[in-house]
Amino acid sequence: MTFEELGLSAKVLQAVEASGYTTPTPIQAQAIPFALTGRDVLGIAQTGTGKTAAFTLPMLSRLEQGRARARMPRTLILEPTRELAAQVEESFVRYGVNHKVNVALLIGGVSFADQEAKITRGADVLIATPGRLLDFAERGKLLLTGIEILVIDEADRMLDMGFIPDIERICKLVPFTRQTLFFSATMPPEITRLTETFLHNPARVEV
Ligand code: AMP
Repeated sequence: MTFEELGLSAKVLQAVEASGYTTPTPIQAQAIPFALTGRDVLGIAQTGTGKTAAFTLPMLSRLEQGRARARMPRTLILEPTRELAAQVEESFVRYGVNHKVNVALLIGGVSFADQEAKITRGADVLIATPGRLLDFAERGKLLLTGIEILVIDEADRMLDMGFIPDIERICKLVPFTRQTLFFSATMPPEITRLTETFLHNPARVEV
């Protein structure tokens, strides 16, 4: 399997090549073709398997299609910790080097002002921890009705950290018709229950 065979756009393929990747990892090979068709994906994979590219590469490809409604974010990536959110932002910027995509990192522990300025200028992609995201959304500073793709990453860690009620609130603020890409290293019963409410006919991929 090559990256070319997965159906990614030319711009994304260029960035993949610049990253020095020659072969997709198993989670990438399995998840990317489904994600590109707009289908929901349930990915069972740990950190270190190339999972970040498995959702960011098809997301970038899909962002090339269609246009954002004025200043509305189109995609939202939820991470359990600030560190993971910052790492995903780094990857996103690298893979999106050929894209004019504005990314806003919304995490706790840093001032609201800079993050709010980014939102006001217009961010296409939000990478966030649940608490800070809800802070903005529930104070009326951020509208999530333009979200086309929602990523819930590290769902089992979200559960361990007590974030599931936050995730449920966030899911009510994004459109029902969105695409959802959901990743977890393990599948305890609480997580299985969540996938039944958040995902519509998902393609299940496991590595
Ligand atoms: P992740 O599981 O997303 O945290 O990725 C783990 C590491 O694998 C990161 O350092 C990536 O840069 C790297 N990586 C992701 N996909 C590939 C690939 N197809 N070939 C080689 N390295 C990769």
